[in-house]
Amino acid sequence: MRSTERSRIDLHAHSSASDGMLSPSELVARAAERGIEVLALTDHDTTAGIAEARQAARRHGVGLVPAIEMSAAAGDKPLHVVGLGIDPDAAGLRAAIGRLRELRAERARRIGRRLARLGIAQAYEGACAEAGAAVPGRAHFARWLIGRGICADNAEIFSRLLGRGRPAYVATVWPEIEDTVACIREAGGVAVLAHPMRYKFTATWLRRIAGRFRECGGSAIEVVLANQPQRETATAAAIARHCGLMGSVGSDFHACGGYAPELGAFGALPPEIEPVWESLPAASVLAGRTAAQ
Ligand code: AMP
Ligand code: MN
Ligand code: MN
Ligand code: MN
Repeated sequence: MRSTERSRIDLHAHSSASDGMLSPSELVARAAERGIEVLALTDHDTTAGIAEARQAARRHGVGLVPAIEMSAAAGDKPLHVVGLGIDPDAAGLRAAIGRLRELRAERARRIGRRLARLGIAQAYEGACAEAGAAVPGRAHFARWLIGRGICADNAEIFSRLLGRGRPAYVATVWPEIEDTVACIREAGGVAVLAHPMRYKFTATWLRRIAGRFRECGGSAIEVVLANQPQRETATAAAIARHCGLMGSVGSDFHACGGYAPELGAFGALPPEIEPVWESLPAASVLAGRTAAQ
């Protein structure tokens, strides 16, 4: 990917309401500085940042899509599903978020115990301190571990300790994608299969899961992502076409200079893919302009 590529639409970004480093208003201010016109706040399993982001978006003239990135599963395979244009107050969504919060909290305690058994004491407390008001996730553990000099960087931590199948990994029984998609749709949102190429599924599995996602009411798949090799974008686009899914685009921004790169730092959706943002009701893009205008 050329570093000069810039998008004015970014439908995947995190704030400190989950594991991002910027507060919701700082995130929106940064989006405005970067010329982003439509930004989706997609915190992990929480909508806690949306009210603040909405206010900031009004001040900066940025279109804010209220959204969430929900932890889900297809059988034993964990997945992320982005819900775009959700009503954060919808009862079913609130209940689902409550359950996910409990799963995350319990998982964090178990990760802490595993790390303690590996000789790394106080990691749970450290991750809680990193998380502030958020429920500690793996990125908070990672930050604490880096801060203590236990690992050099995120890549090392996930490959040595926290990644799937590593010694401090805790498998969680997340809701099945059918339930997650239904919950997003009941909340008025559009369900998007997040970063399909990052799961490292075989091509057959990925198609099967994307097909299942489409069948249960999923609408789109993330085709263009920051830092994604061109051949992966081509594969994601092929899956979108094969399964009749629209395409989404995003940075998965967490931090300046962090895991994923800058807001909007990616190229255009391939022209043959239908853009998911054109299907979002204008009312779900708050403040600012809608992408179609
Ligand atoms: P969790 O939602 O607690 O399971 O943690 C997932 C988050 O951890 C992702 O959203 C990223 O913020 C971070 N993460 C996952 N895998 C990696 C990786 N290989 N390198 C760096 N950060 C990662
Ligand atoms: Mn994250
Ligand atoms: Mn994700
Ligand atoms: Mn994300």
